[in-house]
Amino acid sequence: TRLMAVVKADGYGHGAPWIARAALDAGAELLGVATVDEGQGLRAHAIDAPIVLLGSIDASEAAAACGAGLEVTVAGESLLESLQRAARASFASSPVSVHLKVDTGLRRYGAVSDEAAALATRIAGDPFLRLAGIYTHFASADEPDEPFTTDQLREFDEVVDSLHVAGVRLPPLHAANSAGILTGRGTDYAIARAGIALYGIPPSSTVPLLPGMRAGLSIESRITRLIGLAPGD
Ligand SMILES: *Cc1c(COP(=O)(O)O)cnc(C)c1O
Repeated sequence: TRLMAVVKADGYGHGAPWIARAALDAGAELLGVATVDEGQGLRAHAIDAPIVLLGSIDASEAAAACGAGLEVTVAGESLLESLQRAARASFASSPVSVHLKVDTGLRRYGAVSDEAAALATRIAGDPFLRLAGIYTHFASADEPDEPFTTDQLREFDEVVDSLHVAGVRLPPLHAANSAGILTGRGTDYAIARAGIALYGIPPSSTVPLLPGMRAGLSIESRITRLIGLAPGD
């Protein structure tokens, strides 16, 4: 399983370029960000690893995403069309990598299952695009007793099977976030996406880290002054 280090929101506040560099040096092969700006910021720090845009972007950002060599997540026709135009206009030597996101229950971003086959076929059939991944995101993997994660995986596998039947050559698949990785759900796919756990923070009180994992960042200070206050001050 290849690891995608998720460094959105400035590396969960830790400093995205530092985290990205450390994660890549330690064996991560891909990076995940939320916005085009974040991806461009990493490129400006001379990071040339694959960077996957996990969030929904506006159609007007398609050209900038292609220009920065970012891998774009598509979940609907309108962004796909803008991306197809941008990829044609900016075509250098290699096609633009596209991940298809399928919504299996989080209801935040992703194609509905019924539309996934049509989108995948269009992406795979465009010589300026490369279908680089198909994925979904868990809604409640940080609640280990919640059976919904199993339902999501079943739906994801059904969608993937239907794409296969429709003749789509399957790219790497991915589903697990930190909670999935730590509890072994969705970890059979080619890629896993670690965010919060990467920083040594448990996804929830019921999903602990593994032995030896600890917070990568702590803030320490020294008390320089103590004052006494009376009630009502
Ligand atoms: C933020 C994000 C992750 C990382 O989630 P963690 O729970 O922090 O591990 C993984 N995948 C997607 C699509 C995300 O948006």
